[in-house]
This record gives sequence, C-alpha cells and structure tokens, in this order.
Amino acid sequence: MNLDELDQSLRDCQACRLASGRTQVVFGTGNPHASIMFVGEAPGFYEDKQGVPFVGAAGKLLTELLESVGLSRAEIYIANVIKCRPPNNRNPQADEIETCKPFLLQQIQIIKPKLVCSLGNFAMQTLLERKIGITKVRGQVFRLADFILFPLLHPAAALHQGNLMTPLREDFQKLKQILDDMSKEDSQPSPSTAKPVQMDLF
Ligand code: URA
Repeated sequence: MNLDELDQSLRDCQACRLASGRTQVVFGTGNPHASIMFVGEAPGFYEDKQGVPFVGAAGKLLTELLESVGLSRAEIYIANVIKCRPPNNRNPQADEIETCKPFLLQQIQIIKPKLVCSLGNFAMQTLLERKIGITKVRGQVFRLADFILFPLLHPAAALHQGNLMTPLREDFQKLKQILDDMSKEDSQPSPSTAKPVQMDLF
C-alpha cells in the first residue's frame, strides 16, 4: 500500500469514538519520500477544519522553528499520532492512541524517514514505548530499530508556558547539528564504492 492508498483507506475511519466529532481525518502532509518526519499529538480546531496538521498557532511556531534550521515544510513530512480532533482539544485517551498508532507506524513504514522528531509527551511515549516524561528525554537521540527518534517539546506547550520556549529553541539547534551530521554521512562514499577507487590507483 502506498501513502495515498493508506490516506484513502482512512477517509471514513470509524475505528474509535473520535469519528463522531471530527470534520475530517487529518492524515498528514509533506514529502512522501522525506528523510525527516515530525509527529505531533492530534489535530486541533483549525487542523480539523482544513484537514492539514499544524496550521494553527502551534503550526506557525513550528514552521518558524523549522525555517530557523533551514528546513521547509515541503521537504519534511508532518503527521499526528491521532488523526481526528478530540472534543475541545482534550488529551487523547489511551485506547484512542492504541487504535490510531498502527496507522502512524504504517506511515513511517511507507515513508522510511531516517529521523523522526516527536513533538510533546504523547508522540514521544507512543514511539519510544516508554511512560517517561518529555522533560527528561527532550533533546536526546534514541536509535530505534528503523529510525532515529529525537523527542522535542510540543510547540503548543511552549506557547502556553513561556519558560519552555528557550529549551525548545535549544533543541532545534541540536537538531541542526544532527541534520549536518546526517548530510555529511550521506556525502561520504560507502565502503563498497570506496574500494574500486582504491584499486584503480594500483
Ligand atoms: N498540535 C498537534 O499536536 N498537532 C496538530 O496538528 C496541531 C496542533
């Protein structure tokens, strides 16, 4: 199944109680071949109306933070753990996360990003499969089986609690370093291409 087919298959999803209150399923947006993916919590009011993740106030901040490290929204992929807006933007419930998680994992499996940046507690706990607080693990690199996980604070949390803005910006600077290291690795010849060059010399 490709990303469009997965998207289509979820348009009328009735797998949990959130189906009854949503305007539409907010599947995800961006480059389907992205090497960097961002994962938030759940759509809010504007995301539910427009069908696109991170288009409200938190989205504006996210776009600004991305641009501050040289990333555009078009080159990355953005999705949420939960694809439908919870009533009054309440926290997602454990059973809603369990129901929606397989769709996020399918998105990751199809896109195959090298790096996944989780935004906030819910996305981090879902992908790390650990009940640990975001303030303990933010800005740390976790090498998981299929990708590197880099947990970040949620931009909405930083908008509500001004003291979180500095650590969020600091972690984006760490992200810049990770991206620079990744692009250096990409430009290194792999051992299999390095060998013939050596042999040509003799
Ligand atoms: N917060 C999220 O976690 N996701 C969105 O799409 C918007 C706000």
